[in-house]
Amino acid sequence: ALNAENELLKDLNEPQKEAVLHGDGPLLVLSGAGSGKTRVITRRVAHLVRLRGVFPWRILAVTFTNKAAREMRERLVQLLGPQAHELVVSTFHSSSSMILRRALKDPQVAELMGLTPSFVIYDDGDQLQIVKRAMREARVDPIMQPREILHRIDGEKNAARLPEQMVVDVDDARGVVVQKTYHAYQKLLRAANAVDFGDLLLLLVALLRQRPDVLEQYQRRFRHILVDEFQDTNPVQYELLRLLAPPERRPNLVVVGDDDQSIYRWRGASVDNILDFPEHYPGARVVKLEQNYRSDQNILDAAHAVIRRNSRRMPKKLWSDRPKGEHLTLLLNRDERAEAQEIARRIHGLQREGFIKYSGMAVFYRTNAQSRVLEEAMRLARVPYTLVSGRSFYDRAEVRDAAAYLRLMVNPRSDADLLRIINTPARGIGDTTVERLVDFANQSGVSLYEASAAPERIAGLNTAAVRRLSGFHALVSSLHVFAQESQDAASAVDQMLKETHLVESLQTEGSDESMTRAENLREFLGAAQEFDLNRAAAAVAASTAGDGDAEPMPPEEADLDTSPLTADIPPLNAFLEQISLVGDADAEVGEGRVALMTLHAAKGLEFDAVFITGMEDGVFPHSRALHGGESEDGGEEMAEERRLCYVGFTRARRRLFVSLAQCRSLFGELRYNPPSRFLAEVPQELFGIAEQDLPPPPKEAPFTKKKRNWADEDDGPRVDRTYSQAPEGDGVGGDVRGMRVRHEQFGMGRIISADGQGPNAKVTVDFGGQVGLKRVIARFLLPG
Ligand code: ATP
Ligand code: MG
Repeated sequence: ALNAENELLKDLNEPQKEAVLHGDGPLLVLSGAGSGKTRVITRRVAHLVRLRGVFPWRILAVTFTNKAAREMRERLVQLLGPQAHELVVSTFHSSSSMILRRALKDPQVAELMGLTPSFVIYDDGDQLQIVKRAMREARVDPIMQPREILHRIDGEKNAARLPEQMVVDVDDARGVVVQKTYHAYQKLLRAANAVDFGDLLLLLVALLRQRPDVLEQYQRRFRHILVDEFQDTNPVQYELLRLLAPPERRPNLVVVGDDDQSIYRWRGASVDNILDFPEHYPGARVVKLEQNYRSDQNILDAAHAVIRRNSRRMPKKLWSDRPKGEHLTLLLNRDERAEAQEIARRIHGLQREGFIKYSGMAVFYRTNAQSRVLEEAMRLARVPYTLVSGRSFYDRAEVRDAAAYLRLMVNPRSDADLLRIINTPARGIGDTTVERLVDFANQSGVSLYEASAAPERIAGLNTAAVRRLSGFHALVSSLHVFAQESQDAASAVDQMLKETHLVESLQTEGSDESMTRAENLREFLGAAQEFDLNRAAAAVAASTAGDGDAEPMPPEEADLDTSPLTADIPPLNAFLEQISLVGDADAEVGEGRVALMTLHAAKGLEFDAVFITGMEDGVFPHSRALHGGESEDGGEEMAEERRLCYVGFTRARRRLFVSLAQCRSLFGELRYNPPSRFLAEVPQELFGIAEQDLPPPPKEAPFTKKKRNWADEDDGPRVDRTYSQAPEGDGVGGDVRGMRVRHEQFGMGRIISADGQGPNAKVTVDFGGQVGLKRVIARFLLPG
């Protein structure tokens, strides 16, 4: 035991040990980026099991993404062996979903919630469809767009409010529209035996409030709850925690987070949860970690220079005994294409000379739309990369079709799925037939599937239409029967592909595109096979974990269900659940590949080298935040952008590149954005100076342009000079960045960076508008 203890506590500093060894009662670990919060959670879980004899099934560890959960599980398997499979390590959504499904096996609960255990989970595409139907059924005034209503409904759900709990003023016409639609929307979901993401939490909270017996089961079971990235919990998640771990019982609730990394306010997260935790959980111990193990000093200094400007922060110290490291590198580019190419070139350089592996590098952007140009440049330059937006595979039309069939297999009442595939592959069921079917179903108050059982009763259908509808009904019904008997996900997928002829219909089409789509469907089958294998491995591991375990079940817990939460969810349901819950940030960061992702998705990760693109006001910070009012830090939205910048910077271990473009096409619009204000907040001396002579604004490339060679750039020299000591001289000196200046030809501008000092220093100035960035000699500038 002593050895085990040593192994678990080695390479932890004092406050980290304190958090790992903390006995009973609530604990908050609050500290800056890279200080080992996530490590504390993992070690504490291992310590509880190995040294304090806590049964693994008593532990619930919540992470922010599925990817983070997977990493933590892998780590725990290393520390604990097969026992780790009995732990619940997952996201809020996925643990809620599992608990909900288990609870629904009780017919009374199912009755109360209006759902069965085989409910399906709708994504935002499905949601929008349902909102539109709900608007029609509730006959609301068309004064709002469906998307906007959906956004408001999601907001209500994040705030833990059901339609009847919404507070709406009678004069608030829009509020009334939202409330009415929300009501109808929930009814439609229940009729389809479906939930959306928000429901997973909201309905579980509602259930636990109404059924104290169910609540008590889980309160007794989960004696230890640990939450990573606590700063981004929203009210409904917090409510769930408070139900499972009521403050007055001094529960073993360990939360870790960093208020400076709260970046999901737009999804209803509230940084107050972390700031007020000691108040909500009186007697909570607070541990602060102060040593950063991740980033070189220059990078940390830059990150702090930016975050310091936010006014509402918890005081924190963060130091590092890592070296100062390299300077930050500022990349100035003509436009977004040049930016992407430059980054590709730097990546090659780092890989060749910097001994940094591709997998140790990442490129971040503020909005998804920026990724297209980056991807193109990576492909051209042959940089191996993965785009980290895990949904993309499951968002492809053909994959969504296949998933819709699978969902109908487990739940034929799912109207949205049925509508999606009723004529896919084409089987001659036209729009008119579908309309009549929908009308009939609405009038009879049954699902579309039920309505299609006796199509001869539907008015206005000719015999061909009737025949096709019954054929379709027979297909779904046969698949449904198959699903109930299938023992694994892959055989169900296989059967579905056979009976529906989805693959063949694409192959007959014969185009390159349709062949790729057919391949994707086979890949989908592959995903199901992989899922089955993992599930089997976990089941074997869990069943052998107890072997030789001396500890008997405590008698007072004899009636407690301690099986893994996934235990008897049918495999096809479990597979569907997994693919529904794949989130934005979940794609595997590929082996040997550079990761491209949004800043939001970068949370919790670390890389040797990080590139942040689009450092321009209007891109990052986002244009939404630019008009944030009078307050010194630029308002709440600007504060959030600044936190996002802090998150971005602190992902880097050794090299940080910040990059901007003089002009940029984004969202189909050409913009000349000024450099990001965050750049001006970073002290000059942290930058090495990237000298890039900016060629004149882009014009069409001549036809005869010689073939591009990445080694010798042909559109202007791009020299990167790094000054390791301060150059001498006078004239331009000190920190001139941000200073307003005037130039005879170019007009008024703002200094971005200076290269050298004195009257001959080269200064990069942003003259705004059509002129943009220029490099000029200091003596040609006048004070502005
Ligand atoms: P973030 O705020 O970004 O989520 P974090 O506080 O969760 O960061 P971790 O990811 O747990 O930090 O740790 C950051 C890095 O430091 C990791 O590579 C981790 O392995 C390492 N690390 C943490 N604690 C120590 C320690 N005591 N000794 C050496 N390395 C450590
Ligand atoms: Mg972390």
